Amino acid sequence: MKIQNNTILNYLNEPEVYSLKANILDIVNENGQYEVETTATPFYVKGGGQPSDIGWLKTDDLSLEVLQVISKADGKIYHVLKDENVTALQIGFEVELIVNHEIRHKHNAIHTAGELICGAIRTLGYQWDVSSAIHYPDNASVEYNVELSELEKIKLKEKLQERLCEHISKGSDVHIATYFDRDSVIQQCGYFPDYVNSDIGIRVVKVLDNVFGRPCKGTHLKNINLLKEVIVRKIKNSKGRLQIKYDTVF
Ligand SMILES: [Zn+2]
Repeated sequence: MKIQNNTILNYLNEPEVYSLKANILDIVNENGQYEVETTATPFYVKGGGQPSDIGWLKTDDLSLEVLQVISKADGKIYHVLKDENVTALQIGFEVELIVNHEIRHKHNAIHTAGELICGAIRTLGYQWDVSSAIHYPDNASVEYNVELSELEKIKLKEKLQERLCEHISKGSDVHIATYFDRDSVIQQCGYFPDYVNSDIGIRVVKVLDNVFGRPCKGTHLKNINLLKEVIVRKIKNSKGRLQIKYDTVF
């Protein structure tokens, strides 16, 4: 199947633009719910361990709730609408898409906290590459392909908690840049993410200076000092991986 995304993902380059106007490309009804594809969107699309934005799709007469924005198997992006009364919408119509600020800010904070854990692990001297990361409210964690003893886990939890507090109180701008050549990506991340489609370049996010960044398409805070606290809730071995569970206060 050819993967084709017709929608400009505006948040990748302008994460602080929370609303924009776009035209409807397609309207489908899946299991009683209407889904709308548009020429562009300010919404974060569910994926990469971060939940979708929510918000509104508006016309002059209608204000429809957007429950989530998803990428289908063919790569197309659809806004899933709560309302069933969307018969007034038609392909070609101009609509305004508006992201819920508060929810985005929460997702930014939880995601940035996860990136900060990855950075702090490196500043503690561990050269581990992240195997997976989840930045959902009430279920946020970073995982590595390593296992530690009980004592090592207890020590790491203490050291990591202390280091996170130090980084937050010092503050650091979050830098986002896209790289198109393999060497630059390796220089920035320490490895090349072969699992990412690199046709449009690799977007790298750095939350600490002089520390490897991570390939990431998510949304983040501008500076880590906008976090009040990142709490290391639990460090455990799970299926051959080390899982660091955390809570975010912002
Ligand atoms: Zn990120």
